[in-house]
Amino acid sequence: MSKTPLIAAVKGMNDILPASVPRTDKLPDSALWHWFESVVRRVLARYGYQYILTPVVEPTALFVRGLGEVTDIVEKEMYSFTDSMNGDRLTLRPEATAGIVRAMVEHNALYNGPLRLWTLGPMFRHERPQKGRYRQFHQLDVEALGFPGPDVDAELILMARALWRELGLVEGEHVRLEINSLGQPAERQAHREALVRHFEAHADVLDEDARRRLYSNPLRILDTKNPAMQAVVEAAPRLMDFLGDESRAHFDAVRAVLDAAGLACRVNPRLVRGMDYYNLTVFEWVTDQLGAQGTVCGGGRYDGLIGQMGGKPAPAVGFGLGIERLLLLIQALGLPVPGAAPDAYAVAPSAAALPRVMPVLEQLRAAGVAVVQHAGGGGMKAQFKKADASGARFALIFGDDELARGEVTVKALRGGGEQLARPLADLPAWAGTLKSTD
Ligand code: ATP
Ligand code: MG
Repeated sequence: MSKTPLIAAVKGMNDILPASVPRTDKLPDSALWHWFESVVRRVLARYGYQYILTPVVEPTALFVRGLGEVTDIVEKEMYSFTDSMNGDRLTLRPEATAGIVRAMVEHNALYNGPLRLWTLGPMFRHERPQKGRYRQFHQLDVEALGFPGPDVDAELILMARALWRELGLVEGEHVRLEINSLGQPAERQAHREALVRHFEAHADVLDEDARRRLYSNPLRILDTKNPAMQAVVEAAPRLMDFLGDESRAHFDAVRAVLDAAGLACRVNPRLVRGMDYYNLTVFEWVTDQLGAQGTVCGGGRYDGLIGQMGGKPAPAVGFGLGIERLLLLIQALGLPVPGAAPDAYAVAPSAAALPRVMPVLEQLRAAGVAVVQHAGGGGMKAQFKKADASGARFALIFGDDELARGEVTVKALRGGGEQLARPLADLPAWAGTLKSTD
């Protein structure tokens, strides 16, 4: 008999699976994702950020115009295709900012004042897949539109710190903040000329990428990962020395808030970020625990982008957080993840008892108890094995004897293993004792 060939997922695009499904790639399980998302919703609501969803597919021109033609993303990482029905050039979004800005311009959304927004979802980049780097990955993306800063720049950074804390990460130990200022376009221009002169003088050590970018985007040469170029990059003129008073004051004001809030940061003059649209504040949260893929969150100010997209010019600042990298970090540190297991597992060996048992389980769930019912039959022993494996804190035993007495036996599966009988009649009175969370 011929075997039907399997169809596998696209390379670099991963399934996110429950912990009970064994997998060889050790990627974080869906309970971790779920918990992360609930923490995000809670923390961002505290700061007044509102949820937004934009399409995963956008016109290719949006990213070419928004990100800049000479960027890694636009040059070589985009999933672009022609819509065979009408010939439109489309792209799977590689990042979220351009789409959110497009939506805000299209809906004239800043007419009534500035907006704080967040979204979460898949992004697509054609990169070489490796740990922490995928072709479909997910970002939490946060944008504050219409605010000139520096207040909101500092707010975003502090909000990221609040997120780390809720997740059990310690800033300064598990994740560190790096910050820089890119100044304004005129300041960058003066710096750029000095930079080109510097690199021209050291043309012999530049690699092919750098030579190609020397006149188109020399700032990006500072972002190189080529070890042979580190010395010449280290000695390059620093943008910080070209900043005018206003840019410097903006940077100092952000840092003053971070200082006062007890958040230590390292000023990294080589931090330039991958997209062309940034100005003034840029920052990254980095970790040492993930090898080369050490940046878990990056962002900054992009005051020119809204105007560049055809909107009424307005300042803006935001960040993107790589969810896979963050969850890999949480996993590597072995931080506890609450809520992954159900409160209770219901054992009911007699099929004839189901009409009595299942309505009781409905009542428990309505009272907020997470209870998994054993399904598919089997004897008491087999059902108990499943109860144990489920990770539930309690087994609810609906044996024939119990039901005859109008009771259920509640047995603790973790800890002492004590058990007690509960009357089904006044279930609402004790249902709450099964719950681990509200
Ligand atoms: P890198 O230098 O690692 O390529 P980047 O500067 O291209 O990162 P951004 O565009 O700033 O990344 O995206 C924000 C965050 O999204 C990154 O800090 C990272 O955590 C995550 N990220 C970016 N690209 C990928 C990818 N291919 N796979 C997984 N996560 C990614
Ligand atoms: Mg990249």
